[in-house]
Amino acid sequence: MTNDAPVFAPALSPQEGTEAATALFREVFEAEPDGVWYAPGRVNIIGEHTDYNGGLALPIALPHRAHLALRRREDRVVRLVSPQTREKVDVMDLDTIGPKGTPGEVAHWASYIAGVAWSLERDGFENLPGFDAALVSCVPLGGGLSSSAALECSAAVAIDEVAHLGLAGTAQEPDDAGRARLVTNCVRTENEMAGAPTGGMDQSASLRCREGHALELDCRDGSVTHVPFDLAAEGLALLVIDTKAKHSLDDGQYGARRAACERAAEILGVELLADIAIEDLPGALERLAATDGDDADELVKRTRHVVTEIDRTRRLVALLQDGQPLRGEKLSEAGRLMDASHESLRVDYECTCPELDVAVEAARAAGAHGARMTGGGFGGSAIALVDADAVHDVARAVAEAYQREGFNPPAFLDAVPAAPAGRLACAAPTHR
Ligand code: ADP
Ligand code: MG
Repeated sequence: MTNDAPVFAPALSPQEGTEAATALFREVFEAEPDGVWYAPGRVNIIGEHTDYNGGLALPIALPHRAHLALRRREDRVVRLVSPQTREKVDVMDLDTIGPKGTPGEVAHWASYIAGVAWSLERDGFENLPGFDAALVSCVPLGGGLSSSAALECSAAVAIDEVAHLGLAGTAQEPDDAGRARLVTNCVRTENEMAGAPTGGMDQSASLRCREGHALELDCRDGSVTHVPFDLAAEGLALLVIDTKAKHSLDDGQYGARRAACERAAEILGVELLADIAIEDLPGALERLAATDGDDADELVKRTRHVVTEIDRTRRLVALLQDGQPLRGEKLSEAGRLMDASHESLRVDYECTCPELDVAVEAARAAGAHGARMTGGGFGGSAIALVDADAVHDVARAVAEAYQREGFNPPAFLDAVPAAPAGRLACAAPTHR
């Protein structure tokens, strides 16, 4: 037994986030910000390794957000500060910044924020104003919960408003088409300015989710559906388990999975594996098994995961849309789909690790309705669908299992589907 209570990463309330970011801004820049904008991290409920195959994903926005107090400048200078870098303010110029690997390269986290302005200028919004900004984020870094997209998306909604781009709409009436365009710009920021080759799921979740809903995202065309998933109203919660394990994706595993999917699609004569209907899967697997290469077994397993995972996602979406409370048999079925997703990722996609497997097993044994790894795998986070009043008990059971296994202690988040990026109540921008 461990005597230490499990460690939960707290979500700052909107008021706390506003106050912290505003206080830092005042201290460093000795002025009032125009406002405080925020953007959430995200966690994916189901639909893993489906994005680059043109399939479906089902993320929610977390209550954990990046808060950005920002003031428009009349020149092209950008100055940035965060609690981690209080000693040193990053200063750059929109006229000289450029992609990673070029002379204008921007260091570290500043690239995720200044890079959004750079990208929007490439998208036709010329001559954007510079800005001063103070960042306070409570999205855990590098835990697969998309702290990077939270940075980009908070900058996107802030710049949208102070530069009058008219893309984001308001929190009450979000402009989904405009937000989709912001997503494209945040993805370009991450790919080119930060040099991280990611798809658009993180930014779509942060900008396009709805409170109390999951976001069904069709990764082929970026279209979305808001799926009722009001966990708080149902007496449920999502326990997010940050395994703290880092089995790097840089060792080629991610690239190898993508390459296998592309080879399988080519052999099957389709553009993307999402083109294989679940009814046609047995025939497709027979064809892959009959290929000459020594990777036939690998192609069969990878394809089976992708096609069944898209089907599980579709089934969970249909279940959540049936208008009935998420209880009884419906809740059990939702849990079974999550469990089956993890098994498929473990056995067929081979992208889990002992820390992820132990987390989901311990969570299920402690009463979780369903549990699975989430994100790219090889470490990162797992999720468990639990009764709201059991969150701490399940977390304790996972922490004890980790101690028995000799793993580092995990960290936890208590999550419900939260609101997308927007502006926190504060004075209206003074610059016109
Ligand atoms: P994830 O998005 O899964 O958390 P990434 O590696 O994509 O992991 O992004 C993490 C990076 O984002 C960090 O290395 C850092 O550059 C930046 N970042 C995120 N949050 C903050 C923060 N609060 N302060 C400074 N940098 C941050
Ligand atoms: Mg990221």
